[in-house]
Amino acid sequence: MKKYELIPLPYAMDALEPVVSKETIGFHHGKHLQAYVNNLNAAIEGTAYADMPLEEIVKKSEGGVFNNAGQILNHNLYFTQFRAPKADNQPTGRIAEAINAQFGSFEAFKEEFTKKGATLFGSGWVWLSADAEGKLVITQETNAGNPVQRGLKPLLTFDVWEHAYYLDYQNRRPDHLAALWQIIDWDAVNARW
Ligand code: MN
Repeated sequence: MKKYELIPLPYAMDALEPVVSKETIGFHHGKHLQAYVNNLNAAIEGTAYADMPLEEIVKKSEGGVFNNAGQILNHNLYFTQFRAPKADNQPTGRIAEAINAQFGSFEAFKEEFTKKGATLFGSGWVWLSADAEGKLVITQETNAGNPVQRGLKPLLTFDVWEHAYYLDYQNRRPDHLAALWQIIDWDAVNARW
């Protein structure tokens, strides 16, 4: 069977500071995500999931296999959508056009997306996805949920589990979410669509 591996970061551990500290990256990527990878490898050994692509496991599994597979897929998308902070970081290309057409402006979109992240109770993720008709959709997913379970194409995500921000922002989840817009790599987001 194939073993899942920790996805490498496309930037240095301190590249996202001060928005996300290298300590947070160290725990979040090096400990939390690594644990999901280790757990999934142990859980699928000798099962029908052993040679299945990750997205298919997420769509078909439940319980512990789903929780770990979902969290790997979620974090792989999360960690590969960032770059060093830019004060006036704006979307580009197709995603910029679609955001303006559907939400009126980037500011209006940011407000709705950030609010969905701030108001998600407990642990989970807020997602921007595209549906089969190319329309953008914002969804809240609890725990390890991913929009592929609803047949959507995930484009952008904010992790609202406390481990994503507690070292840097403690209980101030809205401040963390507001700061994340500075580090979104919109070229990476467009490349997913
Ligand atoms: Mn996380």
